[in-house]
Amino acid sequence: MTTELVIQGCGVLNVPASGPCVVEPLRDLHISGGVVTGIHPSGTGMAPAAEVVKAHGLIAVPGLSNAHAHSPMVLMRGAAEDVSVDDWFNTRVWPMEVNLTPDRVRVGARLACAEMLLGGVTAFADHYFCPEQIADAAQELGIRANIAPTFFTDQGVEARDAAIRQAVELRDRGSDLVTASLGPHSTYTVSEADLAHVAEMGRREGIPVHVHAAENVEQTRSSLARLGVTPIQVLDRTGVLGAGALIAHGGGITSDDLALLAQHRDRVGVACCPKGYFKHALDPITPIQGLLNAGIRVGVGTDGAAVANTMDVWEQARLTALAQKRQTGDALFLDVSETIRLATRGGASIAPFGGAGHIAIGQPADIALVDLSGPHCQPVHDPIATLLYSMRASDVRTVLVAGRVVVRDRRLETADLDEIIREAAAVAPELVRVRPGASVQRYEP
Ligand SMILES: [Zn+2]
Repeated sequence: MTTELVIQGCGVLNVPASGPCVVEPLRDLHISGGVVTGIHPSGTGMAPAAEVVKAHGLIAVPGLSNAHAHSPMVLMRGAAEDVSVDDWFNTRVWPMEVNLTPDRVRVGARLACAEMLLGGVTAFADHYFCPEQIADAAQELGIRANIAPTFFTDQGVEARDAAIRQAVELRDRGSDLVTASLGPHSTYTVSEADLAHVAEMGRREGIPVHVHAAENVEQTRSSLARLGVTPIQVLDRTGVLGAGALIAHGGGITSDDLALLAQHRDRVGVACCPKGYFKHALDPITPIQGLLNAGIRVGVGTDGAAVANTMDVWEQARLTALAQKRQTGDALFLDVSETIRLATRGGASIAPFGGAGHIAIGQPADIALVDLSGPHCQPVHDPIATLLYSMRASDVRTVLVAGRVVVRDRRLETADLDEIIREAAAVAPELVRVRPGASVQRYEP
């Protein structure tokens, strides 16, 4: 096989399935057909390449996977601050979403994809309306996307069936970058009958489910009072866990729930998005220690930028480590290597993106080359610690997805970033306009 591209002279971050991450110095990475075909001490690989990316002084890290997002919400960045969870939904975000149009979703999704690629994120699990617009944006910009078309039960059975149909259509695109999940919004906005129907369709079509559940302990308490079972037990008895489920947040997961999730550990995962939990003063938060002990996959997500402000998964990974140390009272829990593993391999395994979350021969070449030469990173005593705790998303220099260079020397190669930013600025004011009485939904956990 001829080598199409060689990344020359970089360090390579090796993220093993368990144990410490290591940076192997001065390597050449050979890439063909979208996958890594060789990792050699620099200068020894010999195969001539059509393209050489000089990367001396840079570290090749696996592209991060954003385990839970609502990408078009970047248009609402900073438009819902200093509010409770209830007011965030009921007086800000859901009234704003009345203003969604396919074109506004397209504009937001392109901005989010650009931001993620420029920050070294190479895959995202999205949950939103107008999914075909998001799919087109992901395909155009060259980022992996697993997209779950959202619906609420009170939109009627037509909306439910349309969302399921959209997921099947996304799957049938047969794209190398775009995959589908089914997207019932949550256990508090979707009926058990609809969840059961989605689970049945998921099993029939071989499409997993992405759903908000037990986001916080208040939702668990309310579910117990209303139904006598927790939100996770609702997902179990409706067949959603059995169909395969990516669960967003899970701050209200109980110890009984952990045992239930463990029974489905090969099919379920949980996305932790800590910045929003801090903002909304939630306590407790995603029980990562219990989930990992039960063998359940955990990824790191941003959630929507209406709460997280950025699509920066490095930032969320850092906050995940800090939040979990605080929650467990154990300074040794979620060490640097384990946290990086969650943001890379953990996220990549949580949805069928097609990426691997680690750099290895035979695996898809989803890679970010990062530059740790900035004053906020120097001196580098331990590159792993620098990556997690000092690096900024803007230190990402060059990004490959499936072997294709999509960011080169901090420049987006696949679309006109100035145009994306101009379009976002033009449509955002109308999107965030709140009209009295208008809302897509009411938050009553
Ligand atoms: Zn969410």
